Amino acid sequence: MGSIRTTDHYELDKPHAVCIPYPAQGHINPMLKLAKILNHKGFHITFVNTEYNHRRLLKSRGPESLKGFPSFRFETIPDGLPPCDADSTQDISSLCESTTNTCLGPFKKLLEKLNDTCSSNVPPVSCIISDGCMSFTLATAQDLGIPDVFFWTPSACGVLGYMHYRDLAEKGYFPLKDASDLTNGYLETTLDWIPGMNGIRLRDLPSFLRSTNPDEYLFKFLIQETDRSRFASAIVINTFDSLEKEVLESLQTLLPPIYTIGPLHFLVKHIEDKNLECLGSNLWKEDLKCLEWLDSKKPNSVVYVNFGSITVMTANQLIEFAWGLANSQMEFLWIIRPDIVSGEQAILPSEFVEETKERGMLSSWCPQEQVLSHPAIGGFLTHSGWNSTLESIGNGVPMICWPFFAEQQTNCWFKCTHWKIGMEIDNNVKRDEVESLVRELMVGEKGKEMKKKATEWKKLAEDAAKRPTGSSYMNIDKLINEILFKH
Ligand code: UDP
Repeated sequence: MGSIRTTDHYELDKPHAVCIPYPAQGHINPMLKLAKILNHKGFHITFVNTEYNHRRLLKSRGPESLKGFPSFRFETIPDGLPPCDADSTQDISSLCESTTNTCLGPFKKLLEKLNDTCSSNVPPVSCIISDGCMSFTLATAQDLGIPDVFFWTPSACGVLGYMHYRDLAEKGYFPLKDASDLTNGYLETTLDWIPGMNGIRLRDLPSFLRSTNPDEYLFKFLIQETDRSRFASAIVINTFDSLEKEVLESLQTLLPPIYTIGPLHFLVKHIEDKNLECLGSNLWKEDLKCLEWLDSKKPNSVVYVNFGSITVMTANQLIEFAWGLANSQMEFLWIIRPDIVSGEQAILPSEFVEETKERGMLSSWCPQEQVLSHPAIGGFLTHSGWNSTLESIGNGVPMICWPFFAEQQTNCWFKCTHWKIGMEIDNNVKRDEVESLVRELMVGEKGKEMKKKATEWKKLAEDAAKRPTGSSYMNIDKLINEILFKH
């Protein structure tokens, strides 16, 4: 019996976008949202995960979760790292190196398979939406003569920081002269030559410059990726114009056309499609019990603590956070990833667990967007990853920032000094500071001012995503008409 064609002709006429995120949680989440929006706008979608993350998604979301449907399909390529069945984020530096060096071949092969339309039964690939950190895709797009749009998933201010890495090296700020520069106040040096971020200190720029090694891999990697971004057909960023106006004006002079399309977690809500709603991207299994627990709490009474998917800390830092939270006497929801303490199991003192059992809820992973939109949440102690920051802004939730790495330091600076919705906590975290900042956030004067500011930003975020005239809402259509349909 011959094979049965399940896709009708109408399907084969569709434009076809191949979406390939960098293989980490904070990149997959926004890429999936953009893919859903494009699918809703009539695109056939191929969403490319690494084999490692595909396996983790099946584990966290169930065996049916990646079946997709006729116009939205999932494919995989290997990431080039040695096989491993751990349930944690891979080492970022190794992953950047291996995707750069090994993914082009398998990606090309995948596109050849898709473009063999007789056997693939999908429309020919008409554009690529590639993470900004997966620039190897450019070669394939050039071969096929199709647009390659780079989705930079950090903030615009973070991307602007990376765009100036080459200048920082040329001006002698990188590499650091001596390891003592990390602690002797040198990082407090302010810079006045980066348009859009005047007065920024070295320590607020993306953290990979904090090295004495001239060959620091991630510093060089970001130079490579930002350089190649100049050859992308366009750049998309999950932000909105009123939030990062000056930074965006500065970036526009350095990059191909930029389309601001955020907050994507708002834009995706315009889609009413059960099929698409069922597609999710959490790599850890979500604990829904924390939502029930929040239901029993008063509005603005709970501090939410979550350090995202990559941040690690020492066992001692974990203990300082624990006692700081306990001593603040506030109610808290604290998400502790099983791998949050580097190289060890995360263990909390039993006295802490006993003392806080009435007012604290602990869990290992949660549906964060739902948590942040819950009325019980009054503040967020965060590592300042861009998705967490934007999700918090979108819900009008003020923050305490404990930036870990990459552009989280830059996000923290903008939150504290420009947007006035954040307070920074020292990296060398101490329980007394945690206690006083948490109290300030939840019941102090500064906390009230930040809440007011956060509510104003929330409104502007909603305006940007509003149908049909919000800037980000309109930019999606512009991206489609001006770039993706150009082929
Ligand atoms: N996230 C989640 N549940 C958790 C922790 C995180 O759903 O318990 C999601 C969060 O909503 C965000 C992403 O994971 O979309 C984390 O991305 P972010 O940029 O904040 O930080 P990263 O993990 O990349 O450091």
